[in-house]
Amino acid sequence: MQKIENFWSAIEKMPALKGIKAHWQEYAGLDYPLMEMILRPTAQQSFAYPCHMPKECYYPRMVIKEEASLYAICSNYPRRCEKVSLQNEDVIVYECDYPKLSRIIADAIGAHFIFSPTEYPFTFRIGTKNISVYLALVNDSAQLANIITGIYASIKAPFILLFPTPSLISHSVEALCRATGCIGMALSESIGKCSSGKLVALCSIRDALLNNAKSNPFPDGAAWHDIKMQFRDGHTISITCKSIQIVANFTQLGMVNTKNGEPTKQWQLLKILGESEGKLSWKNSAANERWQKQKGLLSKNLQDYFGINDDPIVWDSSERCYRTKFSILAEGD
Ligand SMILES: [Zn+2]
Repeated sequence: MQKIENFWSAIEKMPALKGIKAHWQEYAGLDYPLMEMILRPTAQQSFAYPCHMPKECYYPRMVIKEEASLYAICSNYPRRCEKVSLQNEDVIVYECDYPKLSRIIADAIGAHFIFSPTEYPFTFRIGTKNISVYLALVNDSAQLANIITGIYASIKAPFILLFPTPSLISHSVEALCRATGCIGMALSESIGKCSSGKLVALCSIRDALLNNAKSNPFPDGAAWHDIKMQFRDGHTISITCKSIQIVANFTQLGMVNTKNGEPTKQWQLLKILGESEGKLSWKNSAANERWQKQKGLLSKNLQDYFGINDDPIVWDSSERCYRTKFSILAEGD
């Protein structure tokens, strides 16, 4: 794997992650071809253009229009650098295409891609693999610490937080990661490119995901019929598999709404299943449609958590209902 430090530091340095191509080129240097892949044009045009003699000129050149042509002229009087002719393309402001970058990163680290912006600027949830993966394209460690605190308070579970470079790792960021169990990783140290130009992750980041993917302590090779669950209260469930018994909460099972920290609809459905000893039949088609999707998502959550591939909730055509392959009971039964 070849490091692409300029690529990540350009993302960290570019103000508001927006700039004309000449700016992106200046920051990304040799990594610009890679950078170009994740840029998208905005409707904005720049009125400034960089000067090649920043020490002498101090200010960038101004973009002017003469007849139908665009030029960049020195901002100093008398002028110190030459006037250059520009194409329309040269003054278009390009921004980072966040979903595209997020997908590339999620693919590189082997996480399931999800893209959802958070309440923090330039911060997105980009993937999951039993542990949520967040991307913070920030350039200030106090901001990064604030993001760790905020996300942890809302999801109440450890997560992986990716940020551009190690310059953002401060004492408080380190202390927060230790206290919460979150894994902070600088992209410049963990994602590079392979010979084909594709982005790839270093082993350490894949391991971090895989270790967390084994977040259940149950023996390998367990099947659904080995698993018994019983609700303890509204937020926790006891799970027995072969000789091991644990108590897990909805967050650990991946059934947390990351926006408000509340249990998801899948958790509600699991509760309904507990109340009916694992069977689910629908009286009317409206309810059927509403829960159909949740049933699929719940199956996926459970498959991810237990690491068992076949569907845990199947249609029983003789009884005309869905039935869980594991046993499940409501609180106190
Ligand atoms: Zn100049």
